[in-house]
Amino acid sequence: MTVKTSIPLVNLQRQAQTYRDAFQASFTALLNKADFIGGASVEQFEKAFAQYCGAQYCVGVGNGTDALYLIFKALGLKPGDEVITCTMSFIATAEIFAPLGVKVVFADIDPLTYTLDATQVARLITEKTKALLPVHLYGQPADLAALQQLANQHGLFLIEDAAQAHGAEFAGQRIGSWGQAAAFSFYPGKNLGAFGDGGGITTNDPELAHKIRMLANHGRLTKYEHAVEGVNSRLDTIQASILLTKLGHLDAWNARRNEIAAFYNNALSDLPDLKLPQLGANRTHVFHLYVVQTTQRDALLQFLNGQGIQAAIHYPIPLHLQPAFAYLGYQPGAFPHAETLSQQCLSLPICPELTLSEAEEVVRVFKAFFESESRH
Ligand SMILES: *Cc1c(COP(=O)(O)O)cnc(C)c1O
Repeated sequence: MTVKTSIPLVNLQRQAQTYRDAFQASFTALLNKADFIGGASVEQFEKAFAQYCGAQYCVGVGNGTDALYLIFKALGLKPGDEVITCTMSFIATAEIFAPLGVKVVFADIDPLTYTLDATQVARLITEKTKALLPVHLYGQPADLAALQQLANQHGLFLIEDAAQAHGAEFAGQRIGSWGQAAAFSFYPGKNLGAFGDGGGITTNDPELAHKIRMLANHGRLTKYEHAVEGVNSRLDTIQASILLTKLGHLDAWNARRNEIAAFYNNALSDLPDLKLPQLGANRTHVFHLYVVQTTQRDALLQFLNGQGIQAAIHYPIPLHLQPAFAYLGYQPGAFPHAETLSQQCLSLPICPELTLSEAEEVVRVFKAFFESESRH
């Protein structure tokens, strides 16, 4: 029996080992202080992350989903209001609206960048539309210039789902500072990930930052005096200290992700029936995921997995066809670009810790599939 190599999609273990001493120092400091909620680490991280994004404020919260929810709750959207977002995303992007009584309206992706198609958004804007919510999918910013223009023209909020794109830029400006607010996730596998759940909101609006901070902490004014009904969604002290340590490496990690993507792009460029990631005008990519498109996706996925390469699918079902959103009444065929992508997309292993020889192994197995296909 041959021992199969195993290359995970994301190698969190290797990152934990590499920076073990720094992480352990964070744990020791926490144990010494026994200060588990709030405190200096949270404040320091919020300040550093806001600065990193070129935003005035950052509010740490419990996770990326809460970050989205709290933004829309704080903006005061009312039952019957509509928000336009992208059907190709993780469910968190859209599942936050029903509890607010807000109706989510889906739009298709631009087939080049896989992000919200601004032309289609323009046609979906109605009297009821209150906000646009682009998703910087796989690490590539949506067309923020076009979306901001639409938002300004129609008096809409522009909110970024930035959960997959920490550090990416549009027109030379970091994401997280474009519209009224941006939601970040620090889920462990994200480009900047905690040791558990974590999230953050960046904004340039001091009132909005204040309101979100209050809502995330039980609507609290002072201890045991509560202005409104809020929730409990704070960024843990230990997560903030881990994130603060990691933030110093984020640019180097994103650069490494780009190197790996360039290696894949080059090595896979001459294969038939294979669409590689494309970069839209005026932006940088941080390759949270490296996603290719092929009509032979399912067979290729099985082949790679069988050879110990952990490829995956992001995402197999676009949001408008999810059972959870059946009540919205969308039918198959509504958003052809997203539907095609969901049937043909395949994510290859990528993370800053992936070695060149591992990337070569991924390419070798990948090519072996196409060679065996062409012999049939
Ligand atoms: C991860 C993710 C979220 C939610 O973040 P959590 O921290 O897991 O709640 C939201 N939107 C997108 C696009 C994501 O990838």
